[in-house]
Amino acid sequence: MKRLADRLVIAGVGLIGGSLALALRARGLVGEVVGYGRSAENLRVARRRGIIDRAERDPARAARGADVVVVAVPVQAIAPVIGALAPALPPGAIVTDAGSVKAPVVAAAERVLGEGAGRFCGSHPIAGTEHSGAAAALPDLLEGRRCILTPGPRTAAMTRRRVHAVWEAAGMRVEEMPARTHDKVFALVSHLPHVAAFALVNAVADADRQGPRRALAYAAGGFKDWTRIAASSPEMWRDICLANRDELLGAIDGFGAAVERLRVAIAQGDGDGILAELSRAHTTRRRLGTSTPSAPARLRARRSARRTRGR
Ligand code: NAD
Repeated sequence: MKRLADRLVIAGVGLIGGSLALALRARGLVGEVVGYGRSAENLRVARRRGIIDRAERDPARAARGADVVVVAVPVQAIAPVIGALAPALPPGAIVTDAGSVKAPVVAAAERVLGEGAGRFCGSHPIAGTEHSGAAAALPDLLEGRRCILTPGPRTAAMTRRRVHAVWEAAGMRVEEMPARTHDKVFALVSHLPHVAAFALVNAVADADRQGPRRALAYAAGGFKDWTRIAASSPEMWRDICLANRDELLGAIDGFGAAVERLRVAIAQGDGDGILAELSRAHTTRRRLGTSTPSAPARLRARRSARRTRGR
């Protein structure tokens, strides 16, 4: 495969930025990888793990000579980081991001780039774990997963093609979607479940504090599986809640209504009502089936196979 960039800049060398760099390096598709970030300690970890060749905390030094820039910082920081890098970018450099919310991020990125907005195309790689930082990056995190691109009318055709090529080279299945559609879809299937998991953990912890103070000691299996995503970065999820506010509020209202329907059926001892609600969910969930296992699931499976072989 043809080299994608002589110099790749990853702004925010965390779970997503770090995993992309590892995947592209493993395939020999990039020359120098420069890491730009705010935490010197995290950049040291990234250097130690061989994710980046050089760490920069000055945006002009980071941007100089870049071919491809991937901005993988929390959503509210994406446009300011692009704005800080932009003045030192060479004319041929392209820029993408990894943010979980698209319409406001794309609009803000285009605003800060002004005349240079053609070099930007929004991206959202649909992969992740509840862990953060360079230490959590995995070379196969993105493998086989979807990546949504949200090019706008100002995105140049060349930018679109090159951004496609970057994620595809990391093993992702790339598709395109209007940014607003993306935000509606992911408010439902990603942002709502995270908010619900954070709220559920708080509700149980609050009840436990007022009650027997022992419930959480039994929080194995189901509770832990269900709420694993509440261990995700609060800073990242604060930004997603703020940026996708309207879509997320609609999704939360819908969820509240569904909980209320169940609550009423339970309060009234309405067995048929309870069964109807549970059966509808059961059928929908079964229809989803199972998809490609996630990177953490693949990791767990490999570890368990190694343990089995060792016995
Ligand atoms: P992360 O916390 O692992 O990494 C973010 C990195 O950005 C950190 O190294 C942090 O030091 C750095 N950073 C934060 N603010 C900065 C700033 N102002 N300037 C420079 N560096 C800064 O987070 P992540 O999980 O890799 O998420 C990165 C982006 O990808 C977010 O926009 C998130 O919405 C998106 N995303 C996350 C997931 C997921 O499951 N974690 C999945 C898809 C997309």
